[in-house]
This record gives sequence, structure tokens and C-alpha cells, in this order.
Amino acid sequence: FVYQENIVPYTRAELVAKVAANLSESRFEHCLRVEATAIQLAQKNGADVERAAIAGLVHDYAKQLPDETFIEAIKTQGFDPELLNYGNAIWHGVVGAYFIERDLEIHDETILNAVRRHTIGAPEMTLIDQILFVADFVEPGRNFPGAEAARETAMADLAAGVRYEILNTLTFLIQGKKQIYPKTIDTYNAWVPTQA
Ligand code: GDP
Ligand code: FE
Ligand code: FE
Ligand code: FE
Repeated sequence: FVYQENIVPYTRAELVAKVAANLSESRFEHCLRVEATAIQLAQKNGADVERAAIAGLVHDYAKQLPDETFIEAIKTQGFDPELLNYGNAIWHGVVGAYFIERDLEIHDETILNAVRRHTIGAPEMTLIDQILFVADFVEPGRNFPGAEAARETAMADLAAGVRYEILNTLTFLIQGKKQIYPKTIDTYNAWVPTQA
């Protein structure tokens, strides 16, 4: 299909080719499944289908760039130096949006913000932010324990899907003794607790 709006100076086929060229086969296929899932969620929730689709297709575009490339961008493009204490898991979204804007010529802030927030979420998330965050987690290739419950929850209620994902991801990270990015905790505090 051809995009209806002038959000990207490319056809979908051209954008697909650019994303594919930057990613392994399996990571690229994940992006196609996130695109399809984001379209479904956008239709279900009355959101902008085209922006959801583009965000899904490009969201992990920067995932396989070398660490040095991210470090260079953090140091020269005005990012918070605190980011240097983290790694690819955090960088590919927050800093990845910079590469998406530069290389894919996508300047739409709705899409770029959704990419920035797709791993760590945010206390306040737009509909497109929520759709990308959840689509990434429940796309049909995901088969972690709880994936089916996450899928059912998200398809019935998008915000419930966001809450489910944040709780699960944080639980998994803590169980694995992983470093938690402070904004991930801010996201948790805004979405999950049922009482102070
Ligand atoms: P993917 O890029 O499609 O694999 O998915 P995401 O972008 O959502 O997540 C990338 C990785 O970051 C996953 O393994 C998450 O569990 C992990 N992650 C999310 N939040 C944090 C955090 O605060 N700290 C760390 N260390 N990892 C995180
Ligand atoms: Fe990602
Ligand atoms: Fe995610
Ligand atoms: Fe992803």
C-alpha cells in the first residue's frame, strides 16, 4: 500500500527496504509483526492507523547499531550524559529516534515520541505511544511466559495492556538483577500501583 499522508518521503516499500537493510532477518520480521499488530490496535482504538503502522515498522531501526555509534550521538547531539551509564536496551529507543529522523527522514513527533518511549514507557503516553509499546510486547512472535495473557489483555483494553507489560517487564528485570533505568520506574509508578 501507499501512505496517504506525507508523514514519510517514501512509499511503504521504500521504507521497508531501508529498515530491512539495517537489521537482521529476524529483527526485521519482528518489525513487520509490530507494524501489523500496531495497525490492529489502532483500528480497535480509533487511533491514526498510518502513524501507528509507521511507528511499528521503524521502532527498532537503530537496535543493531554499534555501541560506539550511540555513545557518539549521546555525546554530540545534546542527550542526557546519564544515558552513557546504560546500554543498547535503553539507547535504541531514546537515541534511536535521532537516527530514525536523520536516516529515514521521519520528522513526525507523534511517531518519534512513540519510538522514544517504546522500551521504557512514560508516565503520560499518547494513544500512539501506548499502541507501539503494547504492539512490541504482544506481536505474534512473542512467546515468553505470559505472552498469551498479555495479548488477550491488550486486545480487550489497551491501557490494561500497558499496565500488564510494565509490571511484567519490571518484575522480569528485577528477578534478573538487571539495572533499572529511572524513567522505567517513573512509568511503573504512574501506571501500576493501585494505592500509595
Ligand atoms: P525489543 O527491542 O523489541 O527487544 O523490545 P524493547 O525495546 O521493548 O525492550 C528491549 C529490552 O530492554 C528488553 O529486554 C526489556 O526487558 C529491556 N528493558 C526495558 N526497560 C529496561 C530498564 O529499565 N533497564 C534495563 N536494563 N532493561 C530494560
Ligand atoms: Fe525495541
Ligand atoms: Fe517494548
Ligand atoms: Fe521491538
